[in-house]
Amino acid sequence: MSRRKFIPVSHPVLAGNEAAYVAECLQSSWISSLGRFIPLFEQSVAQYCGVEHAVACSSGTSALHLALLACDVGAGDEVIVPTLTYVAAANAVRYCGARPVFVDADPDTWNIDPHRIEEKITPKTRGIVVVHLYGHPADIDPIIELARRRGLWVIEDAAEALGAEYRGRRIGSLGDLATFSFFGNKVITTGEGGMVVTNSAPLTDKIRLLRGQGMDPQRRYWFPVIGYNYRMTNIQAAIGLAQMEQISARLAERRRVAEWYARYLEPLGQFLRLPVERDGVRHSFWMYTVLLKDSVKLTRDEFIAGLAQAGVETRPVFYPMHLLPPYQEAEGRYPVAESVARSGVSLPTHSLLTEEDIRYVADCIAGLCSRATSPVCFLHNQA
Ligand SMILES: *Cc1c(COP(=O)(O)O)cnc(C)c1O
Repeated sequence: MSRRKFIPVSHPVLAGNEAAYVAECLQSSWISSLGRFIPLFEQSVAQYCGVEHAVACSSGTSALHLALLACDVGAGDEVIVPTLTYVAAANAVRYCGARPVFVDADPDTWNIDPHRIEEKITPKTRGIVVVHLYGHPADIDPIIELARRRGLWVIEDAAEALGAEYRGRRIGSLGDLATFSFFGNKVITTGEGGMVVTNSAPLTDKIRLLRGQGMDPQRRYWFPVIGYNYRMTNIQAAIGLAQMEQISARLAERRRVAEWYARYLEPLGQFLRLPVERDGVRHSFWMYTVLLKDSVKLTRDEFIAGLAQAGVETRPVFYPMHLLPPYQEAEGRYPVAESVARSGVSLPTHSLLTEEDIRYVADCIAGLCSRATSPVCFLHNQA
């Protein structure tokens, strides 16, 4: 079968000062976790999000772990986490010796359902991790109101939502703390990397201490607490600073891709549910994710395999946490998350996609959906 081309699900763009800044690290030999790019990158993210402080670290997962440690999460504690998310938040809660307590998803945005949180609060609950899934902001104001009322903190897992907005405010500025990831497929990347942002100076000091093995900043090799080596290198920060210089272009390109998908997939409404962007929010479109309706006679995995055959890479929606072996609960307890996970597929979403690429993906999907009823080759639209 001839293959037109390969369309990856994600693709980083390193089109600015990345090479120049990295060359500066190499030439100056500041390649480890000291150097001028680390504070510059931290400041640029803090300023962009509209918060006072930022601490760069080695990954989005270590950022979550540091944020939870800063909130004193420990053995015997419970932390509310959406069941429909990437595994990092649940794992980070476990790293602290605490227990993640799951909540089902909102059927429109697939984020944590604000109405199902309070019933999960017990005397052991310490806080709530809110994830902005695929870049659509969670409805966080009622969650913050609930948290204040019940004496809990809120951490935003904003790994997928740098640049997204909620009621005129940037994601990352809404909770007590927020965490970002700069893995290669995120809105901006440092290869691997993460950051914690907050308006609290005491939390910032605690996070810096824990990031650097717990060493007393005034006394070398004196460790008053057990810390971690979760540092970011100057090379990663150099890439990150260059990436931040181009963030508005990257977000605009993602939005344009989402608009093309909306246009070319709109005629397939009988087969697909397209992602929403609720009033008062701005999506980062980290991933353009669709749900397969029952009228599609293929399983989600057959649909993914069919697109892969046409050179279109996709991703299934995350498995809900409560179905993974370390967190296993009975199936059926979180029906919205299970249904989104069963039917959801993320389509290629990145800055380098052209309108022609999106039309090709839409044509492949149209062919696949109709092939489900008649065994016609779905690549009929190829030259
Ligand atoms: C990517 C991601 C993370 C973790 O980031 P890493 O940098 O890979 O550790 C955490 N949460 C969510 C929702 C993510 O998408």
